[in-house]
Formats: sequence, C-alpha cells, structure tokens
Amino acid sequence: MAIDAKTRLFGVFGDPVAHSLSPAMHNAAFGACRLNAVYLAFGLKDAQGAVQAMRTLGMGGASVTIPHKTDVMAYLDEVDLTAREIGAVNTLVNREGKLIGFNSDVAGAMRALEEKGTIAGKKVLMIGAGGAARAIGYGIRQRGGSLLITNRSEDKGNALAEDLGAAFSPLSDVDLGTVDILINATSVGMVPRTDAVPLSLDGLTSRTLVMDIVYNPLETALLSAARAKGCVTVDGTAMFVYQAVSQFELWTGLEAPVDLMRRTVLEALGRY
Ligand code: NAP
Repeated sequence: MAIDAKTRLFGVFGDPVAHSLSPAMHNAAFGACRLNAVYLAFGLKDAQGAVQAMRTLGMGGASVTIPHKTDVMAYLDEVDLTAREIGAVNTLVNREGKLIGFNSDVAGAMRALEEKGTIAGKKVLMIGAGGAARAIGYGIRQRGGSLLITNRSEDKGNALAEDLGAAFSPLSDVDLGTVDILINATSVGMVPRTDAVPLSLDGLTSRTLVMDIVYNPLETALLSAARAKGCVTVDGTAMFVYQAVSQFELWTGLEAPVDLMRRTVLEALGRY
C-alpha cells in the first residue's frame, strides 16, 4: 500500500526499541490485509508524552514495551480488567478518541500453550517472577491450571505466587517428574549466554510439555535438552507472534494473517 493522507499510524513505545521485531511483523500484516496503515518504532522515555502524542496525532493504536507497561496506565481513559489485574498494559487502542489499555501477553502465551494441549487441571511449573511471568501465571490460574512458581530471588517468587494464588518452591527443591507443563519465563538462555538453562533438568521426562519464552536463540539450551528427552516443546516466537495477533485483531477487527506474521519473525531472526 502507498502511504497517503489517509494512512493510519500505529507504533511501539518503549526504550530501547531499535531491535524490535514488531514493525516488520505488523507492517507485513497490514500489507497482507491491504490496510492503509503503517507501524513505526518510537524509542522514548516519557510514557505520559507517548500517550499525549497518540492523542494529538490520532494514532490508531500502539504496542507498549519496557519500561512503560505499568506507568502508561495512569494516562489512559480505560484499562481492561485483565490488564488492571496484572498491573501492566502492552496494547493501546484508540476507539474514537478514547484510549483503552489491554494486555495481549496473556492471550498470546495461552494460545501458544493451548495449541499443544489443555491447561485446566494440569500441574504447571513456571520459572520466573518478572513481568512476563506475571502475565503467564495469571493466564494459567484463570484457565484452572495448578501453578507452582520457582525463581532465583525467592522473595520475588513468593510474592508473585501469593498475588496469583499459586504455590512457591525454591529452585533446589523442584521435582520435575510430576510436572505436566514447564515454562521458562526468565531471560536465562538468551544471547549471549546461550548455554545456560534456568534449572537442573534431572528428572525431566517426555510427559512434560516445555515452553521457553526466550526467542533469541529460537532453540534455547532448555528446548534442545527437552527435545532430546522426547518432550513436546513450544519456542518463544509462539507467544510473541500470538500476542501480536491479538493486538492486530484489537486494532483492526480483522482476523490476523498468523502464518505470515510468524514467517516474518522467523525471517527477522534469520532462521526461516
Ligand atoms: P523481568 O521482569 O526483568 O524478569 C526477569 C526474570 O528473569 C526474573 O524472574 C529474574 O529473576 C530472572 N532472571 C534474570 N536473569 C537471571 C539469571 N541470570 N539467573 C536466574 N534468573 C534470572 O523480564 P520479563 O519482562 O519478565 O522478561 C523475561 C524474558 O522473557 C526476557 O528474556 C524477555 O525477552 C522474554 N519475553 C518474551 C516474550 C515473548 O513473547 N516470547 C514476552 C515477554 C518477555 P530474579 O527475580 O531473581 O531477578
């Protein structure tokens, strides 16, 4: 599509955003659906200024990333229930001048998992207690999964478990033999420390579904070890693509071109 006077503006607000894969993914989706829209990356430190800019320019929507997912909430007209309960917004939608905040990380992570099986009644072990872990843990609890959290900093892990109505276990006490779903929601395994795994994999058997939300590299040391043990695995691009799919659908009301969005991300990661 050519850019003209009717082109709608979308973008990502965060700091840093120079390496964001979102512009490539959303622009590919806009193009495939023949929408007159463009998505740009805006690196900025001022959440209030970002929201004001969105109002002034009449932007159609935006993604919000670190470090603004929480502080942006104060400047919106409305925040949906899920985002309010998690305390983080990653999607802004402009509905006729009203700016509404959503959290698409929950839907993205749940769709990535539910593609491989159900969550209700499953014993889920999640490693991590940061922002991504909070969104994923919320989704697991909402779907009736039995959630056990472990984390390097035990105080943070305990606090998240309490907030989500989950249990906490120190890393050294974890028994992987009884786990149905194992999720790495930490940054352990990311470049440049690609040989690192977030916990000892002794006791892991093929009965466990293993998801890693790290997507750089695509096959982390955790996923590689899990596959060698015969586990079904879910890589970090699944959550990333599906959270963007939710954003696209919130912005446009159209079904997102999922395969194209996934292909675009894999191409950008140099592995397609
Ligand atoms: P965050 O809020 O900073 O949380 C980081 C988590 O990683 C904490 O639990 C932290 O433990 C743990 N951690 C960091 N370094 C560690 C180490 N060396 N050893 C053990 N634990 C360590 O970050 P976040 O926003 O939740 O993001 C976490 C990761 O997920 C990042 O790599 C991010 O890129 C990725 N992510 C992926 C997606 C996706 O769609 N695939 C979405 C969001 C985030 P402590 O509490 O002990 O510090």
